[in-house]
Amino acid sequence: MYEVYALKYGERDTTACQFFYREPSHEPITLHFYVWLILGGPYPVLVDTGFREEDAAQRGIRDYVSPATLVARVGIEPDAIRLALISHLHWDHWAGHGLFPAAEFWIQRDEIAFWTGPAARHDVYKQLAHPVALGSLVTLNYGNRIRVVEGESQVFPGLRVHWVGGHTAGLQIVSVETASGRIVLTSDASHFYRNVERRQPVQIITDLPEMLAAFDTIHTLAGDPGRIVAGHDPEVAVRFKPVEPGVIRIA
Ligand SMILES: [Zn+2]
Repeated sequence: MYEVYALKYGERDTTACQFFYREPSHEPITLHFYVWLILGGPYPVLVDTGFREEDAAQRGIRDYVSPATLVARVGIEPDAIRLALISHLHWDHWAGHGLFPAAEFWIQRDEIAFWTGPAARHDVYKQLAHPVALGSLVTLNYGNRIRVVEGESQVFPGLRVHWVGGHTAGLQIVSVETASGRIVLTSDASHFYRNVERRQPVQIITDLPEMLAAFDTIHTLAGDPGRIVAGHDPEVAVRFKPVEPGVIRIA
């Protein structure tokens, strides 16, 4: 049985019409930025890496706390993170990989192919990339720190990654068995609960039918909607249990 924490390391405001697919409302919304920590296996596992302080300043992120600081707040030294499951390679999930110098990173083959391939250079995708962090995929790979995964893969018994695509070509979600049942960390397969609950897509897409199918996959894996952990929703702190600033105990 695993324990799971959501670690919130920043915030940004936007509007519903800027964010959701074909959404007319100008209602303000706030994104929270998280990484997730899974304890109880042979060693601690991180999901995503966040980004660095300079990225926070450049991209107008409020209340930034280094994901490494938050991991330490739960009692885990950042260099004790030997494994990080990377949901996808958008800047806010990958640009912080250097904060975890001992980690091996598990990334879907389709995700690496996309960001090193012909579509990524277009502005619509490029604005979501961190070219320096993406460039380090090569050096990390030659240093044996990248594990390329395809489809569904077991990390340890009761801890799996599942390719869903949709938001990005190789987006993967994480399922983890806990005392509360099987938790699903959706990352950006469902930024907000309204995505997965109302089947409402976001605007950032590589494949819309894949995004819609991912909502079904999340529900099927979780079994109970109360075990879904959305990727950027402030509501996570309401549905689960904040234990100290920036630290929410999921299970
Ligand atoms: Zn994101």
